[in-house]
Amino acid sequence: MKVKITVIRDLCIGAGTCVVQAPNTFELDNENIAIVKDIPGDSVQAIIAAAKSCPTLAIILDDEETGKRIWPEEKEG
Ligand code: SF4
Repeated sequence: MKVKITVIRDLCIGAGTCVVQAPNTFELDNENIAIVKDIPGDSVQAIIAAAKSCPTLAIILDDEETGKRIWPEEKEG
């Protein structure tokens, strides 16, 4: 599965837990906001763990092929 990663800059508070969880995918820019590296180098599992670790839900993950939302999980019903 290929994952499309989006960081919502307005939500990011620079806590850096995503960088700890997936250091080859996320880094903090000079404004202390998370950015995605050009070639994300972590497993999908690590990227999902990073997104889940974000305290402000600033990381959105979509399945690149199907376009389905992976995280945050969409509530049904
Ligand atoms: S964990 Fe969330 S708030 Fe912290 S740096 Fe990453 S995106 Fe920003």
